[in-house]
Amino acid sequence: MPVYRDAGFELFDAKTTSETFRKETEHQRDPDLFIYSRYRNPTVVSAEEEIMKLEGSRWALLTQSGMSAIDTALSVFQHGRENKPWLFFTEIYGGTISFIESVLRSRRGLDIQYFTPENGNYDLIKFEETLKALKPEFVYIETVSNPMLIVADVAEIAGIAKGLGIRIIVDNTFASPYLYKPLADGADIVIHSATKYFSGHGNITAGVLCGNDEDLMKSAIEYRKFIGHTLSPDDAYRLQTQIQTFELRFSRQCANASKLARFLEKSAEVKKVWYPELNDHSTHAVADKLFGGKGFGGMITFNFNGIDSDEKRARRDNFIRLVSEKIKLIPTLGDPHTILMPVEAVWGAKYPEPGMIRLSVGFEDYAGLEDTIGTAIKSL
Ligand code: PLP
Repeated sequence: MPVYRDAGFELFDAKTTSETFRKETEHQRDPDLFIYSRYRNPTVVSAEEEIMKLEGSRWALLTQSGMSAIDTALSVFQHGRENKPWLFFTEIYGGTISFIESVLRSRRGLDIQYFTPENGNYDLIKFEETLKALKPEFVYIETVSNPMLIVADVAEIAGIAKGLGIRIIVDNTFASPYLYKPLADGADIVIHSATKYFSGHGNITAGVLCGNDEDLMKSAIEYRKFIGHTLSPDDAYRLQTQIQTFELRFSRQCANASKLARFLEKSAEVKKVWYPELNDHSTHAVADKLFGGKGFGGMITFNFNGIDSDEKRARRDNFIRLVSEKIKLIPTLGDPHTILMPVEAVWGAKYPEPGMIRLSVGFEDYAGLEDTIGTAIKSL
């Protein structure tokens, strides 16, 4: 697929023009005539088809960022001033929480409600009671949360929500369709920050929303076009190329993370490792069931031993310095190389473990990675 950089496309005559405009929001791909790149673009559609294959969806719409995919997915459920409550799980990306609070609640005046896990797990009986009491328009969850990697039993959650006629939106960025496909269990919309594992090289900012429901698709096409959230053809072209290696990359990231989590767990300097494959993770059983043994993701969170917060922070800072030649502190995830984030610096007091580090494990050679981390830990 070439890169079609054209802003507008030839429509030949008045009859074709009116026909094409009339049908514009009816299909993601058809009619074959394109109008204007903010509406739809052939290179973007071609990349969308790759994502449809991965998520097993009837439609996919690419946007300029994960956040614009989230805005589009949520906005299709907004009906003027007459809105039911919107229910969000608390363990979701911090940028999504900021968007919810400063745009959805403060500017748009929506009734925002949250559902919180207890002891690192979601109580589904309480969840059902909450739904019955609140009667929300939709429930919004992430399959794997950040940074504690809590795995939501999306199959059960979607079943409960569907049974009560409530829609469900799933941000599947961390699990990716390699581990789990929420649409197969009844999710209405699946979102990704394509900036992460789909791009996989830390060089594209993009998002996508996918689904099977035609009416939701039409509303989403319309909203994306009015707001101008559509991905650029150049980025779509690069994304389409990079997505060809998604499964190769992600399966290797899962394998590396699995080995590294076990290695860290054995280290005397490490107090605790959060990785859903480990038996002591609060949602190990859910991850086992949902991911069917394919892997447990490429993210690991861990903290250091220490007599007090200052000692833990000192170990963290030392570790970051000692690995910094090979493992950079970069605030993203899903890159080719392992990168890290100090949890406290981003999330503040939400996770009260001062030494915590979140690793996004890359697909580099494992032996070298273990050597870098092992050597740094020994020198702490
Ligand atoms: N969803 C999740 C789970 C994320 O981690 C992020 C970004 O870190 C986003 C959405 C937002 O994506 P983007 O940064 O591509 O807008």
